[in-house]
Order: sequence, then structure tokens, then C-alpha cells
Amino acid sequence: MASDDKPIASGRWHPPGSSRAEPAVLLGADKTLYVRLASGGDPVSLGDLARTDISARVGRIPRRIAFADGSLFETEDNDAVDLWLKKQGKSGFVHELERFHPRLIALVVAIFLFAGLIYRYAVPALVEVAVVVTPPAVTQWMASGTLLSLDQAIFDESKLPDARQTEIQQAFSEVATLSSRGVDGYNLNFRLGGVIGPNAFALPDGTLVITDELIELADGDMDMIIGVLAHEIGHVEEEHSLRQLYRAAGMAGLIMLIAGDVGAAGEDILTNGAALMSLSHSRDAENEADRISVELMAKAGRDPRAIGRFFARLEEKLGLDGESSFLSTHPGTAERRQAIDDHAKSIGAAGP
Ligand SMILES: [Zn+2]
Repeated sequence: MASDDKPIASGRWHPPGSSRAEPAVLLGADKTLYVRLASGGDPVSLGDLARTDISARVGRIPRRIAFADGSLFETEDNDAVDLWLKKQGKSGFVHELERFHPRLIALVVAIFLFAGLIYRYAVPALVEVAVVVTPPAVTQWMASGTLLSLDQAIFDESKLPDARQTEIQQAFSEVATLSSRGVDGYNLNFRLGGVIGPNAFALPDGTLVITDELIELADGDMDMIIGVLAHEIGHVEEEHSLRQLYRAAGMAGLIMLIAGDVGAAGEDILTNGAALMSLSHSRDAENEADRISVELMAKAGRDPRAIGRFFARLEEKLGLDGESSFLSTHPGTAERRQAIDDHAKSIGAAGP
């Protein structure tokens, strides 16, 4: 060993795998640590600092320096060990401690960024997963619960004559047959809307509801009625309601749902009619449903622009900021009617 090797601390040396202890001294040179017995002779342990395990300082507990060969040096002189490690600067554990704070800050920042990313990307992704994994039995359960609570709170039995209901049902079936779910994917219900007035909506399982008030507003225009129902078919085909519900359920709700544990609170939300009714679709979802209405109506040989005419009539009769909850969930702007006309033209549908 070089002559500048200095004793770091004195203590006890244990040979590999033995509890035998011999008085010894720890020495250091550069990045090398070695142990010489108090009785003299060649070093008994030798190791590179990087490959030597020095226990962290814990109060007055003796420091253990474990060499790669299994031998151990133990000392009570913690200060001397720390001082030497500090002098080594670059790779001692003291240095690790100094880097601890910036690392902690970086970690906290990373956690916040990650949480932000989850909010931005994982929720929409989870919504898609939830939509895909939701079995039909669950959407049926949601729909029957929703319809039941709406029947109790808002609706009354339809006053529409049976013959008129049958007529609308037949016209609806002709359009529903052309949809991707087919006529069996839908179940049309007539109700007296009461406080919700002229309205139509779709539940995730294909249950459709149309109010007497909406049929009255259409004033005998069957295309208008069927155009609205075709728009609702669009919402079902694109699973808009389910997505809206899941978005509203949020991260916690989605995890519970995917894990198969909805819980009592979740059950309330998923089958509460008011919750579903208060969710308005996004502008994109509305445009999608409009396009599907235009396409289905054209295929069925009906007026593809009927849904646009319906929105115009709704505005004309009730005013833009009227009482109709259908208007509040279906903003019928001029732009929207233009988009309907444009789409009708683009698929080559003849005007009325
Ligand atoms: Zn809509």
C-alpha cells in the first residue's frame, strides 16, 4: 500500500462467515478501503469503495463496512467514517444524501405531471374500455332503472291513440331495420312528457322514448318524428349515453365499474333518470347523431333533412332559450342545420 494511506477508524474485524472479532484498523487510499489487524501483517480485507457496503449512520449504532468477500469491519467511530467519506466526495453516501432533495423535488413534479397525464389521457381511455366491457345485461339494467325512475317522477302514460302509436312504430321499424343494430336492437316507448315537454331520448341499451308533446309539435309530419328517432338511433349506435355516464362517473367510478364493483352510490347514479337526462351530449356527438339520422332517413327513402326541420320548428315554437329540455340538450343552431343540409347533399340525397 502507498505510504499516504491513513487510518480512518479503529474497530473490530470479522472474517467472512464468522462471528470471530479481532481488533483492527480501517484504512483508506483513494477509492480503496482496506483493513489491517491490530496485530499487524498484510491487509485482511480489501475493496473498492464502490463495491463496499457502508451502513447508513443510525444514531450511535456501530457502523458496518461489508467487503465483497463477506468480511466485515465494525466501528463505533461514526464521525471518522463520515469525515473520510465526505473527503472522497463523488461516490460516498454523503453525496447521495446531498442529492436527495433535488431528487425528491423532481419526484414530486413527476407525480404531478403523471396525475395530469392520467386526467388528460387515462380517463378517456378508461371510458372507452368501460364502454367495450359493459355487458348488455348492465345496459339493460341501467335503462330499466332509468325508465322506471322517470316513470315515477316525470312521465305519464301516453295519451296517443293506439292507431297513431302503431303507425309511428311501423315507420320507426322500417328505419331501425337499416341501422347497424337492426330493428331488434331498439324498443320504442311512448310517454306523456309533462314537465319535460317535447322530448325524445335514447338509453344505452336501445330503449327509446318519445313524448306525446314532441309528436304534437311535429304536427303530422311523420318524417320529422322519424328523423328525431333516427337521431336517437345515432346516439345509441355511437354509445354516446354510456360514454357520457362514464365520463360523469369519473376516475373512481370507472375503476369500480371495470373492477365489477359498482356499489350503492354507483347504482344510484347509473339508474337515476335525472342524472342521465341532465347529461347533454357533446357538439361532436350531436353532429354524429345528426349525420346518422340523415343517412338512415335517406336509405329509408324519407326526407334526410327532417331532423334539421325539426330543430327549426322547435326553435320557432319554443324560442331559442325556451323551456324545452330537449333544446337545452340539443342546441339547434343555424350552423347545425347547415351541416345537416350539407351532409344530405354530400350523400346525394334529393331535397324534399
Ligand atoms: Zn342528440
